[in-house]
Amino acid sequence: MTTVSADAPPEAATRAALRTVREMIARAHSLGSAETDEEVLEQAAHIACDVLGYRECAFALRHEDGGFRCGATRPRGPGGELTVTASGYEEVCQVAVPLEGGSLWLPQGAFAGASSGTSPSTSSGTSPPDGPSGPPRWFYGRLWAPVVSADGTHAGFISPHQPAGIGLGAGSPPPYLEALLLGVLAGLAELGLELSRINTARRKAASLAESKRRQLEDLISASLDVRGEAALDNVLSGIARAMASGVGFRRAAVWLTGVRPGRGLVHLGTGFERGQDATLEPVPVHLAATVGISAEEASRLSREWSSLALFAPVMRPEMRLSRSYLWDHRRCEYTGDIRDKLLPGPPHADWSDGMWHSEDSLTVPLEDRQSNLLGLISMDEPLSGALPTRDECRSLEFFADQCALAVVEARRLEAALEEATTDELTGLANRRGLLERGPLMIGQAKRDGPSCSALYIDIDHFKDINDSFGHALGDEVIREVGHTIARRMRRGDLIARYGGEEFIVLLPATSLEEAAVLAEQIRELVGNTHPVEVHPPIRLYVSIGVASAKPGDDTQSLLRAADSALYQAKRSGRNRVCVAAS
Ligand code: GH3
Ligand code: MG
Ligand code: MG
Repeated sequence: MTTVSADAPPEAATRAALRTVREMIARAHSLGSAETDEEVLEQAAHIACDVLGYRECAFALRHEDGGFRCGATRPRGPGGELTVTASGYEEVCQVAVPLEGGSLWLPQGAFAGASSGTSPSTSSGTSPPDGPSGPPRWFYGRLWAPVVSADGTHAGFISPHQPAGIGLGAGSPPPYLEALLLGVLAGLAELGLELSRINTARRKAASLAESKRRQLEDLISASLDVRGEAALDNVLSGIARAMASGVGFRRAAVWLTGVRPGRGLVHLGTGFERGQDATLEPVPVHLAATVGISAEEASRLSREWSSLALFAPVMRPEMRLSRSYLWDHRRCEYTGDIRDKLLPGPPHADWSDGMWHSEDSLTVPLEDRQSNLLGLISMDEPLSGALPTRDECRSLEFFADQCALAVVEARRLEAALEEATTDELTGLANRRGLLERGPLMIGQAKRDGPSCSALYIDIDHFKDINDSFGHALGDEVIREVGHTIARRMRRGDLIARYGGEEFIVLLPATSLEEAAVLAEQIRELVGNTHPVEVHPPIRLYVSIGVASAKPGDDTQSLLRAADSALYQAKRSGRNRVCVAAS
């Protein structure tokens, strides 16, 4: 502890003061490691006690409302719960006596009517002491050193308890050196505050970088999961799940639209919502309407995947953020019935500018390597509450690119499977397709009551058609007969070209009698149609064997039963339906 006596010779006093400054600077290193501003000032107050020799030191930090909240090195000091309002502090500063080093001193009686032990009043004499606007009584006869920020505002202050070890007593202003040293300490405290702010910002940036790193890791692992999926539907739900769970959005939905061979235009959509406990719930997905769509976007969207054009209103060029589209409700207005289609939730009561609004939306395109649009990922409500940044969009796009590759691969696989199970000539299922789907249809029928029945259909004397009109026309006949039968089928029935001029129809949940009726209708239908225009017209007939699955039957045994019924039909003269014994 260094003490400087007021009547020490000037040179000795200066040397002692310099030693004190050095000591303060040495101690001030610890200020940089403080976690909060309050901690910085508290440590400065301790330095005031330990180095400058005060018994006790109060410290105060300015808060957002402009007022100060005070603490002290000891609980029973003048700090504690003490608060000083912004206006009260301003008033004492106006009347205070400026001392060396920026310190201030408020003499007793600075305000009219104020005296030691009595309630001080304001200079106008109207405000009550310690009231919301009055000068706090606590300042009377007190020395304090404001901690002044770079912009000149008082960020806080330190104020040692009087009388100080080196002071002259409660009633008198402190001597030159005492005020100066306290001012130096306040300066060090300000550096400490600066340092603590830099450290806090650095910690925040580090934790932000860490959370971004983790998010990227999640994205990469999610994209590996998605890439590992073979079936398109699984790819789709994998993407939506990852979007809702891994990348910090409450809701995510994925749309894919495309032409599937044999099935025409299909729209696939799946969505997930993240619950309070981070579990994922499937949500119905809504398609936006085609309103306010620019011609360019429309043509881009509708070129291949027409229904994605429905998203055009939220994918206008002016909404581009990186390669994504941010619908920012501050700049864009819903027109027509798009609001009803998008169903935005009610806005948050505490929404502020720059935060995510319930009417905002983020759409990330799923594009293949040639920039063809395969689908869209639609994101809603970031968990951070903030609008996504360009960098965040880039991470999402990276993920979307991986997903797009998975979609392309899954589509390729689906197309290959489709091709392998489709008959080239008729577009109907082939033998392989029938044998793949048959077991499921027969199995289901057995469980649900009415059995699954089969029709084995064979064109009569087909060889003669080939012989008379050639193979090409024979092909055409096969195709037309196939389509004639297919038109008579019900939803859920399966028709396959089983070989040459033979067709199999599987009828789930259909009794033998119902199947026989249907077979008779098909026989008549084929007999009455003229699939090809030739002269003289071809008389075309079919023979049909009908069988119903019995318990324990599989596809093969059911087909065998239908085949032997067909054989019966052929033997008994053709152009007829024969039913297997039940
Ligand atoms: P049945 O009334 O006993 O069924 O006599 P069919 O002539 O229809 O039967 P058969 O099995 O003797 O002849 C079937 C013919 O179908 C033999 C084959 O040349 C022909 N065929 C098989 N596949 C095709 C095909 O893809 N296109 C054409 N044009 N003909 C085919
Ligand atoms: Mg045949
Ligand atoms: Mg035949």
